Amino acid sequence: MSEYIDKNKALEALNDKYYKISGYSAAYYAGYQHAFDDLRKIGCEDVTPVIHARWIFEMRTVQGDRFACSNCGRIIETGLYAKLEDFPYCHCGAKMDLEEDQ
Ligand SMILES: [Zn+2]
Repeated sequence: MSEYIDKNKALEALNDKYYKISGYSAAYYAGYQHAFDDLRKIGCEDVTPVIHARWIFEMRTVQGDRFACSNCGRIIETGLYAKLEDFPYCHCGAKMDLEEDQ
């Protein structure tokens, strides 16, 4: 599975480090410049940010419990054949991984 980083944040981090070094050889600075240039040339992927949410308990039902998505308000119901763990994502795209106090 690929991992993605924010290209601008990576450039900022590299830039911060570059300006904090002093007294190094010219080759050291040249190495940083090569890293800047190479990082700028890397193409960008179309990555969608992850929305983190959680199921909020609403009420007990005849067969289970009713929950609402903390992002969009969509209602789901658990029961004999549908457990809360069967809904790791909401239809709005939110990943249901937040804890109650987040
Ligand atoms: Zn939702």
